[in-house]
Amino acid sequence: MFELSIAEARDALRARKISAAELTGAYLGAVETLNPELNAYITVTPDQALAQAQAADVALAKGEGGPLTGIPLAIKDLFATKGVRTTAASKILSPFVPPYESTVTANLLRDGAVFLGKANLDEFAMGSSNMTSAYGPVTNPWQRQGSDAKLVPGGSSGGSAAAVAARMALGATATDTGGSIRQPAAFCGIVGIKPTYGRCSRWGVVAFASSLDQAGPVARTVEDAAILLGSMSGFDSKDSTSANMPVPDFATAVKRGVKGLRIGVPKEYRMEGLDPIIDKLWQDGLAWLKAEGASVVDISLPHTKYGLATYYIVAPAEASSNLARYDGVRYGARVPGRDLIEMYENTRAEGFGVEVKRRIMIGTYVLSAGYYDAYYLKAQKIRALILKDFTDAFEKVDAILTPTAPSAAFGQGEKVEDPVTMYLNDVFTVTANLAGLPGLSVPAGLDHQGLPLGLQVLGRPFDEETVFAVGGAIERAAGFTALPTIRAGA
Ligand code: GLN
Repeated sequence: MFELSIAEARDALRARKISAAELTGAYLGAVETLNPELNAYITVTPDQALAQAQAADVALAKGEGGPLTGIPLAIKDLFATKGVRTTAASKILSPFVPPYESTVTANLLRDGAVFLGKANLDEFAMGSSNMTSAYGPVTNPWQRQGSDAKLVPGGSSGGSAAAVAARMALGATATDTGGSIRQPAAFCGIVGIKPTYGRCSRWGVVAFASSLDQAGPVARTVEDAAILLGSMSGFDSKDSTSANMPVPDFATAVKRGVKGLRIGVPKEYRMEGLDPIIDKLWQDGLAWLKAEGASVVDISLPHTKYGLATYYIVAPAEASSNLARYDGVRYGARVPGRDLIEMYENTRAEGFGVEVKRRIMIGTYVLSAGYYDAYYLKAQKIRALILKDFTDAFEKVDAILTPTAPSAAFGQGEKVEDPVTMYLNDVFTVTANLAGLPGLSVPAGLDHQGLPLGLQVLGRPFDEETVFAVGGAIERAAGFTALPTIRAGA
């Protein structure tokens, strides 16, 4: 059961070789066994999942059903789910039960998906390690050879990625503001795609940095990610930044091949001190694409070196503004005080964790009257230059190949003392968010300790199809079959 991909499970369900109740039952069993160890879920919803699976079986028996009928998924606990607690991994939202469903999850339900529960994440999606969750860290199902030290699954969608890698879900929703789909996908040996800004509706997704946030899927194969993205995408009048564009058949694009495509290699991404094993994997990726008929073109993205600094001004600025709504008045947790101001202070002091407070302070500072021009305005200008770098590059190439992250998964407790070291993780991923471009991470090899490494494919706005074509070619060439130590069915 656990070896099936989404595409295979869908076909087996339609052929009535397995039932949705069986499939969901198996996955719920895996969650029950493994979640105490991995903490990938904050909330598990077995009753809802079994009811949805039964409804799926009824539809399938009649030859009806959508593209995801009976497929058990995990939902990042940043998506509002009607009647199911939605915490954003923060104490401040611990009592929040949304009276509405996010557009992305509503789309998945329309297509027949089964929801197993809400996946853990970094608090308000701020982080690269899933160590900042108020509900405890997530453990990566992968371990270094000969060591049982606990590793991080990456962040912020660490619960989603760990759940999919450990076979505690067939796929999951995730979100990416600066790398939070791609980096955990790379750390957990699975596929993740952040689509073009505007492709998936942000309505009902707890906001972190609204001009950067995008929803997307994580899954075990490129085809599965394409199937999920097809369901999650689409115009939504409730999100003013939602793109009114047709949704292509992403899954078909996966098999398209790369013959004649020009693949860009940005020289600025060959950073000083780049781990030789990551560099080697990057070269392997380029060689695979060449062997399939693509050509490799050297390009320059000259403003890359300002990417992290720009991101860590824009993202906290927007976060500080978005998080102002958590005042203890309308919803969420409240800590009383002698007067209104003290109630605000107590609620926010108690409700937010350390990393969230750090972001609010940085954001408030860069937006303050005396520093607005020096930081925020300047960052906006550099953001425009970063986009222009990409626009110029995409005159010469059809897609860009880079590593996803500068290292494999690190240990729990490493890098947490120094936020700047943690922020360096995002060096290859933040530019796609600043420029609004689609980016996919595909597992491509193992490091010397047996941990998975990912390659990142970037594409033109709304050209996810080419990104999927390149990702599919890398997946076929890499033949990545390694499995995590901790997994259901092992
Ligand atoms: N690691 C980045 C941050 O902490 C990105 C997070 C994300 O994409 N949500 O801001």
